[in-house]
Amino acid sequence: MRAALTLALAVGLLLAAPLPARATTWGPAQVECPLCGHDNAFERPMSYGSYIYRWPSRFQLIFWPATEGRSLYACSSCRLTCFMWDWQQRITAEHHARLREVLADVTLPAADSYRKVPILDRLAVAEKVYEVVGLDPVTRCRLYRTVGYHAAKQGQAERARAARQRALDLARALADDPAQAAEAKEHRVVVACLLRLLGDADGARAALDAAAGLKLAGDDAARAQGRTEYLDELIADLRKRLDAGDLSDDAPARDDH
Ligand SMILES: [Zn+2]
Repeated sequence: MRAALTLALAVGLLLAAPLPARATTWGPAQVECPLCGHDNAFERPMSYGSYIYRWPSRFQLIFWPATEGRSLYACSSCRLTCFMWDWQQRITAEHHARLREVLADVTLPAADSYRKVPILDRLAVAEKVYEVVGLDPVTRCRLYRTVGYHAAKQGQAERARAARQRALDLARALADDPAQAAEAKEHRVVVACLLRLLGDADGARAALDAAAGLKLAGDDAARAQGRTEYLDELIADLRKRLDAGDLSDDAPARDDH
């Protein structure tokens, strides 16, 4: 009985074992362009898990699917380009006229699939689109971090550096903004992540020291506590990388789809 129970437990544990690290999956999606109405053949996530928060992109505080080119939709007709989660939400009627003007001057390489249009070309158009629709500083900072991530992955060190410097300026202002006090811990970790990637180890350490004593706040106390613990773990991991003299990009083998 005891052996059977042990076996059942072992099988149960095996079944409950985490899926392989790259177990995110995508499926086809026909998506209408909110600007021109063209019916585009895109893809959308079908499955993923909390393991995405353990992947190396966490050292830049950006997460799948932003790390994957498939999440950046580009209309094959009017060239409207933005992340899939903004496709309907941010491209509202008030912006249509200005977007058409901006996109009239835009070119993208021809391709039989949006995924084959180089990610950095799509991001360049997306930056113009986001300038029109307007982003709050937190989202803008994340956009520039994402540009930095993809530029570094494509070997475009200067473009990565420029994007990260813009993100750093925003993150520093957010970290010092009293209205952002509830999120100051995360903003300071973002500052540390960016300083590390920009080669300033001492500055990164100082930002981590400032972040370590803070706690996130919010109406959902349990969620704030969970995010605080996640950031504390990340702070410890970042300190290890700094102590090892590792200022590198994250060689994102596991989220390099
Ligand atoms: Zn379109």
